Amino acid sequence: MQSEKRCIEKMIVYKFGGASVRSAEGIKNIVSIVSEVRDDLFIVVSAMGKTTNAMEQALACFMRAEKEDAWAHLAAVQQFHAEICNALFKTENETVQILSPIFAEIKELIMDGVGDDYDRWYDHLVSYGEIISTTIVAAYLKTQNIDSKWLDMRKLLITDSNFREANVNIDESRKNLRQAVDFQKHKIYIGQGFIGANLKGVPTTLGREGSDYTAAVVANLLNAKSVTIWKDVPGILNADPRIFKNTVLIPELTYADAVELAYSGAQIIHPKTIKPLENENIPLFVRPFANPDQKGSIIKDKTQKPIDIPVLILRANQTLVSIRPRDFSFVLEDSLSHAFGLLTKHRIKVSLIQSSAVSISVCVDNTRYLPAALDELANNYRVTYNDNLQLLTIRGTNRKIEQETTADKEILLSQHTRRISRYLLRAKNRS
Ligand code: ASP
Ligand code: MG
Repeated sequence: MQSEKRCIEKMIVYKFGGASVRSAEGIKNIVSIVSEVRDDLFIVVSAMGKTTNAMEQALACFMRAEKEDAWAHLAAVQQFHAEICNALFKTENETVQILSPIFAEIKELIMDGVGDDYDRWYDHLVSYGEIISTTIVAAYLKTQNIDSKWLDMRKLLITDSNFREANVNIDESRKNLRQAVDFQKHKIYIGQGFIGANLKGVPTTLGREGSDYTAAVVANLLNAKSVTIWKDVPGILNADPRIFKNTVLIPELTYADAVELAYSGAQIIHPKTIKPLENENIPLFVRPFANPDQKGSIIKDKTQKPIDIPVLILRANQTLVSIRPRDFSFVLEDSLSHAFGLLTKHRIKVSLIQSSAVSISVCVDNTRYLPAALDELANNYRVTYNDNLQLLTIRGTNRKIEQETTADKEILLSQHTRRISRYLLRAKNRS
């Protein structure tokens, strides 16, 4: 009981993403950030750099039963981590001690297994990215005389079996986590983002970029005072600086602002992150990993003033699907729920909806699930689609910016409310 009280008073959550831990320098920087912390601390860490993508490539070979090729990809992943370890630890022996047991386990999995259920194998294999990164970070903290306790979130964060996009079982996870975490024993705990397991202990993942969501869930379950996501940008900007020029920092956002931005496709935080925080009124800081003295942005219940600059969000890889009943029945009356039921069943995420009397058009993320969804829809409807599109959302309507950002594109569809404009765009030079 006493340790729970301490949690309530003091603890905070830090999340370090893949970009923060992509190099030995990054891991050293974690140490300098963490050593400033006086509160009890739970650290959530993603896989290092592009490890998750590399694991996905290994999985693709494995699913084609090309085990040797799968292992070659994984050997490259091992090499990448070995180089980081060699730069962190005094002797190669330490590197071997850290990596060998993990990669022996992965090799066994690859060589013994036979891929059939893609989603299930995905979670089993890809989750090792976070196991490796957290093991290295915990080992390095130890060499710097920082005591921390490494936790295996595959034993603590319980989810359903919706592989690759699992939902957290809050009650089971709370029980486990509160049992595992006692800040009287250790001031710092380290757990993997993105990964968990179902009730039978089979590994699951929470969806790409899901480590933010893990941080929020941990904060909710341990009654954190705050969560900080350390990122490779100065905070939350009004647009993605890799795509748009002249971006500006938004110092304060409400939870509602953040949800809206995340769902429109702003890749700054995982869309599911906000709810567990809002439920407990836990503020979320987004701060620059490279400049820990800067404040970054804060997301909280209420802000001093509404966001008064236009916010631009570009969601790539979109497909516009038009669904039309074969018999000209009125789509909104007769077919809407059936068509959406099929999309949900195939895990298709709808980003925009437009309807006429006899057809409904939906803009969706073009994922590996889409062909099967289109096939099943085509059994009941006339289905046509356009792919390779981008969905631009502009919050805070501004004609000049709208003209500039859509000028060299073909506009397939646009929607406007008083505050928000949305454009479905295609590059003009497409043949
Ligand atoms: N490593 C996972 C990914 O790259 C999860 C995360 O980084 O949040 O998607
Ligand atoms: Mg990441």
